[in-house]
Amino acid sequence: MRNIPAHGRLLIVDDDLMVRMLASESLRHAGFEVSEADCGEQALEMFEEQDFDLLLLDVMMPGIDGYTVCQRLRQHERGKWLPIVMLTGLNDSDSIEQAYLSGATDFITKPINWLLLTQRVRYGLRASHAIAEVTRSQQSLAHAQRLARMGSWEWSLSDARFACSDELRQLFGSDWKLAGAATVELFLSMVRESDRAAVNAARQALMINGQPYQISYGFCRPDGALREVFEQAEAVRDGSGRIVKIEGFTQDISERVEAQQRIEHLALHDGLTGLANRQFFAQLAEVELERARREKSLCAILHLDIDHFKSFNDALGDAVGDQLLCAVAKRLSVSVRGADLLALNPPMRAAEMVSRIDGDAFTVLILEVRVPDQAAMIAERLQQAIARPLSVDGHEVVLTASVGIAVFPRDADSVEALSRHAEQALYVAKAAGPSACRFFDEEMNAAASRKLHLENELRQAIAENALRLYFQPKVDAASGRLAGAEALVRWEHPQHGLLGPGQFIPLAEESGLIVALGEWVLATAARHLRQWTDAGLEPLRLSINLASPSFLQENITEKCCDAVRCAGVSPQQLILELTESLLVVDADNTIARLNELRARGFALSLDDFGTGFSSLSYLKRFPLDELKIDRSFVADVTKGGKDAAIALSIIELGRQFGMHVVAEGVETHAQAGFLLAHGCRLQQGYLFSAPLPPDRFEALLRNGDRFNPCLPVPTRHPTS
Ligand code: C2E
Ligand code: CA
Ligand code: CA
Repeated sequence: MRNIPAHGRLLIVDDDLMVRMLASESLRHAGFEVSEADCGEQALEMFEEQDFDLLLLDVMMPGIDGYTVCQRLRQHERGKWLPIVMLTGLNDSDSIEQAYLSGATDFITKPINWLLLTQRVRYGLRASHAIAEVTRSQQSLAHAQRLARMGSWEWSLSDARFACSDELRQLFGSDWKLAGAATVELFLSMVRESDRAAVNAARQALMINGQPYQISYGFCRPDGALREVFEQAEAVRDGSGRIVKIEGFTQDISERVEAQQRIEHLALHDGLTGLANRQFFAQLAEVELERARREKSLCAILHLDIDHFKSFNDALGDAVGDQLLCAVAKRLSVSVRGADLLALNPPMRAAEMVSRIDGDAFTVLILEVRVPDQAAMIAERLQQAIARPLSVDGHEVVLTASVGIAVFPRDADSVEALSRHAEQALYVAKAAGPSACRFFDEEMNAAASRKLHLENELRQAIAENALRLYFQPKVDAASGRLAGAEALVRWEHPQHGLLGPGQFIPLAEESGLIVALGEWVLATAARHLRQWTDAGLEPLRLSINLASPSFLQENITEKCCDAVRCAGVSPQQLILELTESLLVVDADNTIARLNELRARGFALSLDDFGTGFSSLSYLKRFPLDELKIDRSFVADVTKGGKDAAIALSIIELGRQFGMHVVAEGVETHAQAGFLLAHGCRLQQGYLFSAPLPPDRFEALLRNGDRFNPCLPVPTRHPTS
């Protein structure tokens, strides 16, 4: 008697007042809430307005009869599952049958047994509750399955019938042919070919041995869409242990698989060009190297780098730079794929042979090389492919590339060493000029390891104060008076002796050590200034060389200010010498930074002027105090010609823009006289003094020595 409801709202529909009264009486007595209607019309009206849990419905009534009422209620959304108990004539089997046909849940024959009535109503309600419960849980199961993109199915073995939930039908395409008349063959034909054997084997093992399975596979829907699914199934046995059906659920995991694939792709490919990235390339190359080892064949790794790509990027902007790289990537892949290699390798292998390792650097793996020279021929073809004019965003660009090649097994035995060697060969190719191509050789390896060693030593030298500053006087050539000095760095190497900047500055720039070196120079120069002041010497303006990477640091102004503050000297005592290359990169930002430094009191000088790319009109925009004529123009200045013309234009330019002009590398009286005659009084060079170690320079300051003044040498104007 569990769960038999004693409550509920009932509606009694009968035209017989007596029946209504008695029924109401006994049901109310049993605890129900009872309403009454005396005809079908009234019953329908009341149903519209109120909820009932059960109806007692007389068949024979004036107006619409009980059958019609029952049918109408069943069409109603709320009436679908409502328990309707019909009151029929005794043993009238026709009317009982008609009652069921019109949707009745149960019937009670008249005359009514009042004792039994309450029980029948209770059971009617219980059945209705149970149905509602089942419906609810079915609905929530279906909902859950829909959410999980999952559908259930079963396959009965006796009649080979396949049945599945709506969710599965939706998942596999609504007009799925499999439902109903399915065969194993038809199902399998829709499984992705590469998964078919595994799926079949799993199903067979389940049907024959009852071994449950979990499997993921691809499924091609009738509309052509490929779905990735996960499926789990088990066998159902009868009392005798015989497998009678298999049942399972299948879940659409396409999105998860896609996301996974995207992640894997991103992890293995370069986001910009879609080429394999460094790691993936290494993995692929590893496999190919193993194969080459087995087959005793040759292969080669090419390192390829776009010449002066940075200039293109700076001039055209990053967005165009990116497009250029994509275009290069495409040309490389097409050239490699279109290569004769294809005849030997299936496309899948050849397709991943190009990778972008970073910036404008690419690597190419070349398989089945017959002789090393063949790799050079392929390199040349790639270079030609890149050198075809490119049109990007309205810009016509011609790129060239340099290539370094390392051959397996001649040059190295592992992917890592082969790559390293190809890269070393590339460095040599780069130094040899644009569009060069070099094979690796042992000397490169030795040079590279020497370089690496030197780099470590330099790092240590900076940290351990093994660098020195030398000072070269800047002289007013007309009076012979000291007008300042330039600090030039040296390295006191424990084995190699005193090294000039030419022997380690390029390395410092390449390795990034230049920034630390610059900081050391700044701090040391400021300290020397302080010492000279403390020694009571005349205050001096000292020039220091600031490399572009140092200048490009966000906080360079603060660093310069800190250095002078720490040493207790004034920023006015420092002149920062910058290189022309700075002016072509992000001019607005550079100008802002220069102004900042100048506002703090530092003077700014443009070093080696005339050797870079900046146009003269460009120069006007930059807040500079000084121009230094590069010594290459000074060397031949007295001979007239182009060099003299450039030197003279710089002097003129300085005059017009109100900047000091300093001539560097003045070695002869003739040079000094010529420059002086054309208005360039500030000069620097061996004629006056070589760069001096601190003690000798300090002695010079202390003695207040004058240099021999020069006489202006009137010369014919070189251009006249
Ligand atoms: P620079 O800034 O043009 O320095 C002038 C160079 O010319 C110095 O070479 C100097 O010794 C040399 N020189 C001076 N007078 C004469 C002359 O009459 N004839 C000839 N032929 N040469 C002369 P150094 O000291 O070897 O420096 C070379 C370059 O290294 C410098 O060129 C500068 O670009 C760089 N450098 C030197 N010190 C530093 C530094 O502290 N930081 C940075 N970033 N670079 C530095
Ligand atoms: Ca300089
Ligand atoms: Ca210079």
